[in-house]
Amino acid sequence: MSLERAAALVAAARHVVVFTGAGMSAESGVPTFRDDLTGLWARYDAGNLATPEAFHADPDLVWGWYAWRAARARAAEPNAGHRAVAALEAAIPATTVVTQNVDDLHERAGSTAPIHLHGSLFAPRCVGDGAHPAALIDAEEPDEGRRIAPPRCVTCGALVRPGVVWFGEALPEAALHAAVAAAAGCDVLLTVGTSGVVYPAAEIPRIAARAGAAVIQVNPDATPLDAVSTVNLRGTAATLLPALVPA
Ligand code: NAD
Repeated sequence: MSLERAAALVAAARHVVVFTGAGMSAESGVPTFRDDLTGLWARYDAGNLATPEAFHADPDLVWGWYAWRAARARAAEPNAGHRAVAALEAAIPATTVVTQNVDDLHERAGSTAPIHLHGSLFAPRCVGDGAHPAALIDAEEPDEGRRIAPPRCVTCGALVRPGVVWFGEALPEAALHAAVAAAAGCDVLLTVGTSGVVYPAAEIPRIAARAGAAVIQVNPDATPLDAVSTVNLRGTAATLLPALVPA
């Protein structure tokens, strides 16, 4: 019943925003943040690995973790949920994908220009001049728990860092601006696989709700976004999203 209601809302929409988090890629085998800190990484927490302070204190540890994550993301394939998001854009051209994910599975599924609020595993940059050097995070699968020295910038010799937004860092201004504008102007916002607790990204569905859009949530678990959701679909991205694509 609620699935039919959600599909009807999407079918009637002119501008849809799809806001995604780590749960979107879970069925592709890319773990959510909590599940990522397993095995040999389990003795660390995100504060040891995903902050500027952590990189400053131990760049080899942090680069090793991101190299491991990048290798796993590269080996993953888009799931039926990513493909449904791309199909939604084909059916409703004014569809904006806003992701907190740092993998590239939306692009590989066919979404044309997903907005990456938290950067990318595949766009490392120099800590000195901010440029994006040619050096990429190692393509081969690094050993779990292995330290790897980051490359040096080809221009200035400074360390190269992962091109992701770490805790305590500002989001890329243009991406945030575009995401806020899309959320404020859409009829329907689909929030998929996000716990809705990482700010300011978690404001995006709330902005849409305040502006009068219908918010449809896809998540197997309850989240704080239940409170702003018009329709709550309890289930996974790959199983539910295909049913929301207009025929
Ligand atoms: P999160 O880990 O806080 O929450 C994930 C949410 O997904 C949870 O609410 C969970 O119930 C739900 N979920 C799990 N499996 C699902 C499925 N199959 N279908 C639908 N929902 C499912 O993730 P978040 O809200 O994105 O925030 C954490 C931060 O971690 C973000 O900043 C993100 O950038 C980063 N992150 C990204 C990736 C990635 O790029 N794939 C992976 C891990 C973490």
